[in-house]
Amino acid sequence: MLSKPFFGYTQPKFQYELLSTKLPRPAITTQPATVTLLLPREMGPNPSPILKPGVKVRTGQRLTWDENPGPAVVSSVTGTITGISAHLGDYGRKFTAIAIAVDPKDDWDKQFAETRGDLTLQALTAHLTGAPGAPPLETIANATRPIETIVIYGGDTDLLVDTNLYVLKSQTAAIEQGIKTLKKVTGVERIIMMVPGDSFQNFDGHFGADVRAVPNSYPQGQPLMIYYRLFGRILEQGQTFEGQGVVFMRAEAVASIGKAVTDGRVPMEKIVTVVDKQGQKKVFAARIGTPVGNLLKAMNITLADRDRLIFGGPMTGTAVYSEELPVLPDTDAILVQDSHDVVLSSDYPCINCGECVRICPANVGVNVLVRYLEAGQYQEGANLYDLYSCVECGLCSLVCVARIPILQYIKLAKFELAREVPAEEENE
Ligand code: SF4
Ligand code: SF4
Repeated sequence: MLSKPFFGYTQPKFQYELLSTKLPRPAITTQPATVTLLLPREMGPNPSPILKPGVKVRTGQRLTWDENPGPAVVSSVTGTITGISAHLGDYGRKFTAIAIAVDPKDDWDKQFAETRGDLTLQALTAHLTGAPGAPPLETIANATRPIETIVIYGGDTDLLVDTNLYVLKSQTAAIEQGIKTLKKVTGVERIIMMVPGDSFQNFDGHFGADVRAVPNSYPQGQPLMIYYRLFGRILEQGQTFEGQGVVFMRAEAVASIGKAVTDGRVPMEKIVTVVDKQGQKKVFAARIGTPVGNLLKAMNITLADRDRLIFGGPMTGTAVYSEELPVLPDTDAILVQDSHDVVLSSDYPCINCGECVRICPANVGVNVLVRYLEAGQYQEGANLYDLYSCVECGLCSLVCVARIPILQYIKLAKFELAREVPAEEENE
């Protein structure tokens, strides 16, 4: 996959989207003919007999590689497995792609419903980690240090995207139930619900959570910004949120937990914002695994040669190569950019104009940092030039006159350095 900044050198609008009080209904996509589910593990020898082409699966059924403990994915449809293949994600992450030909009628698996009476974190983790919003239940269950605070963000982390705010405003009861369930199964008492500033009056005192407002200006909704706002510190090299006793969740993930408990079924429909080449957008509810091309078709979008398809928002999204890629539990937005609007990054050198330094909300010395990162000197960038202060907002990439893909250098550097850190995290 190719990662680039997706805006030209124009004055940015720094405000997140604010949904009107009159909420649009999400467009429901018709049942796809096939779905592709991504099991988060590399293909190996000897898959379980369930993962063979020709085997029937039910909606809500857990699919794992073999009988050993390990990651699972829950089928979002009833149908027949048609193929198993290797799938390579961002930064070399490996998955097993499971293609399923969809039956028109759902036959619901009963396993989750049977655990409802005695709901535990393990049972929720087993069935809901791939639910809409990607609840990070596995992280909570496996944290090396007890989780003390769950932070739920009800806004979106990129511009033009309506997904989480839509869920916050339209699924309040499910979120309330989700928070109640989280408290019960995790034992975490401190749950903080961050909401966009304009929504604060509507939600303060609700949810059974400590509700706080986040300013509506970009990039205040980035998890690293919220973390700094709440705890007054940044994550150093090798640290993770969970290593600090904190877990971040999307509002949609909490709503999924609430709905699963109420209905006795794992929810399967992901809310996605689709933005077309003219900037028109629509909110869709689509089965997880639906090919992205189905959503484009539902919005009458045709991809022409050199148009760009982007997963995520314009500031932090990732360009992808195929309309066949599936909607994933964390796919909040799909953007289509006309080939005429595509701004390519370049290999021009930095001209030291200072624009990136002026715009950086974290006061990173971006102009110098980028020189180290271009040269692959990641550790020096971390030690000397505040790599870990970066909140990954992409504003520097946006304003860079030389069109250097600065955010992508930064993300790559953090990824590479994380691979070098021993499994045992250094805390504080
Ligand atoms: S370095 Fe760039 S991506 Fe990081 S916080 Fe500053 S402006 Fe945002
Ligand atoms: S905006 Fe780009 S060209 Fe200007 S100082 Fe920063 S990295 Fe260099």
